[in-house]
Amino acid sequence: MSYVRSSHLAKWWEVQSNGKILCSLCPRYCTIGNGQKGFCYIRENIDNKLYSIGYGRPTGFAVDPIEKKPLSFFYPEQMF
Ligand code: SF4
Repeated sequence: MSYVRSSHLAKWWEVQSNGKILCSLCPRYCTIGNGQKGFCYIRENIDNKLYSIGYGRPTGFAVDPIEKKPLSFFYPEQMF
């Protein structure tokens, strides 16, 4: 996989006797085969190791107007 280098080796998992990975990070306890992702789509079995493929990456973006922010003194001389 091309993004293995930017992924982070995950914690809280173990290899089961059937070769699949059991993720124990959350109560869902996904069993993940090679090349598959867990229910959350953020942990992936790559070559029988579990990676956190979103590690260090933003998870959301939002564009908000500046007026929405609590900046009542951003321009102190300008009163509304
Ligand atoms: S949902 Fe994600 S974090 Fe939870 S057990 Fe499944 S793969 Fe692991």
